[in-house]
Amino acid sequence: MPTTALSLLQDLYGYPAFRGQQAAVIDTVAGGGDAMVLMPTGGGKSVCYQIPALLRAGCGVVVSPLIALMQDQVAALRELGIAAAFLNSSLDAQAAAQVEADFRAGQLKLLYVAPERLLTPRFLALLEQARVALFAIDEAHCVSQWGHDFRPEYLGLSQLHERFPQVPRIALTATADAVTREEIRERLNLLEAQLFVASFDRPNIRYRISEKQDGRRQLLAFLRDGHEGDAGIVYCGSRRKVEETAHWLAQEGYRALPYHAGLDGRVRARNQERFLREEGVIMVATIAFGMGIDKPDVRFVAHLDLPRSIEGYYQETGRAGRDGQPAEAWMLWGMADVVTQRRFIAESEAGEAYKRVATAKLDALLGLVETASCRRVALLNYFGEGAEPCGNCDTCLEPPALWDGSEAAKKALSAIYRTGQRFGAGHVIDVLLGKATDKVSQWQHESLSVFGIGRELDEKRWRAVLRQLMAQGLLAVDHGAYGALQLTPASRPVLRGEAAVHFREAGRLAKAARKGRRSDAGTADQPLFEALRNWRREAAARHNVPAYVIFHDSTLGLIAAQRPASLDELAGIPGIGTKKLQTYGAEILQVLAAGA
Ligand code: ADP
Ligand code: ZN
Repeated sequence: MPTTALSLLQDLYGYPAFRGQQAAVIDTVAGGGDAMVLMPTGGGKSVCYQIPALLRAGCGVVVSPLIALMQDQVAALRELGIAAAFLNSSLDAQAAAQVEADFRAGQLKLLYVAPERLLTPRFLALLEQARVALFAIDEAHCVSQWGHDFRPEYLGLSQLHERFPQVPRIALTATADAVTREEIRERLNLLEAQLFVASFDRPNIRYRISEKQDGRRQLLAFLRDGHEGDAGIVYCGSRRKVEETAHWLAQEGYRALPYHAGLDGRVRARNQERFLREEGVIMVATIAFGMGIDKPDVRFVAHLDLPRSIEGYYQETGRAGRDGQPAEAWMLWGMADVVTQRRFIAESEAGEAYKRVATAKLDALLGLVETASCRRVALLNYFGEGAEPCGNCDTCLEPPALWDGSEAAKKALSAIYRTGQRFGAGHVIDVLLGKATDKVSQWQHESLSVFGIGRELDEKRWRAVLRQLMAQGLLAVDHGAYGALQLTPASRPVLRGEAAVHFREAGRLAKAARKGRRSDAGTADQPLFEALRNWRREAAARHNVPAYVIFHDSTLGLIAAQRPASLDELAGIPGIGTKKLQTYGAEILQVLAAGA
């Protein structure tokens, strides 16, 4: 039988079928075409370049920005029996020379390399001496100067196409927004590449957002109710808060470690290593932590402070539940967070255009936290994707108290429409309240019929109305330089008084949804599952890899539930490929026999 993409997925990886657009991406790249792939974290980007590299002659060269990530990816590939290696500053000269020799001799199928090394004359010369199957550019958003992960070395990667025009390239990222997407296409010279955009929904993540009262007590309640022993990330707004929170959690008996850019590099590396390798570690961190962390069994991501934008929030929460098992994204926010962030924006040295965009992003985020309807719908709408109420977020599970805001919505939308959809929230509210500001007289807005029609609400209420309209997809923000509010197709019926709108009652948020769903493994035979986990811990130590590189919890859960009696039966379980069956099959059957 000829080797096909599907046979490789089944035999090597042990998965029965491709997910989403994986097969289409693999077809394109294996056939020599360029591809640009946008998939959420956990969507399964790796096989999109690994399998084409296996199908094509030569070695796939993967550009990856993080050393820890490269090491884990290579360890995981070797566990699958695939010849993989990396070249980065962690190797000594002799080890690096060996990798280079293997590469030249055509003995590698995948080679991971840091961008700064790839662009050295030495490495470029090496590339000329071997057959390159493809170039994969992982975390491609690092080329975007607007994002917080900007890596100047990524800019040089456009050279690859000029030097090796016949080698297909595939760029991958989990960053969805249109501006970044365009920047990647231009900067990496991928204008001709076929674009693959997956749904950004992460159905296994439950979103919960509550008002902050006593943050520590709330966090403790959250951990005790369904997350004892789980690995998770707790994001804080400042370095100081990171340290204090990590210290306090440790006193409460949790395995909590701090991570922020102000810590010594070695401490940071050690904490990250422990988070990846040990089970049940809680990383308390600033947003400096997380890029490229592909630990699949992070069961929760908690935000103790308001993030800065929906993009940031979605990327951070996306680190939960990459294995597809139930996970929670839990956020606390307070008005004080909003005040601090507004001050940061106002005091920043950046130009007016930046300030307006930052303000619009903050407003969109506030719309999300205040929305009375499904969080997931609001999130996906923000990324331009339609969705139905999900049944797996706090507002779906425990709907909040509402007030009928149809009249207020109509007034706000009219004011935006009559002023030409060219102004931000501040001016629109001035018009609604009938304030005689300079801007009002400059544009002669006092002569409009909408001037002063909204005096029954104060400024704060109007801001909340606008944010919630945004969250419900009834208002859009022009993300170009101006941050102007604009109507959407969905706002027409509201404007005409044909559709009702409901807003969340301020201060009467629903009690946070109680039960964190436990992983499916919990429904399997629990003692057997624990025995398998113990075996995995010991096997991981023997092979010097993180436990999840051996098997995911989901695979162990299925083994515990199905109790396969033979190697053949074991082979039928997703996540067990040929090599792993060979390496671990007999040991697993022994654990099962002992447990029976
Ligand atoms: P990403 O890089 O997009 O965040 P990964 O490539 O790390 O995601 O994949 C996430 C998880 O999903 C990995 O554990 C991977 O083995 C698994 N996975 C990928 N493709 C499939 C598939 N077709 N079927 C089952 N599991 C898959
Ligand atoms: Zn929902």
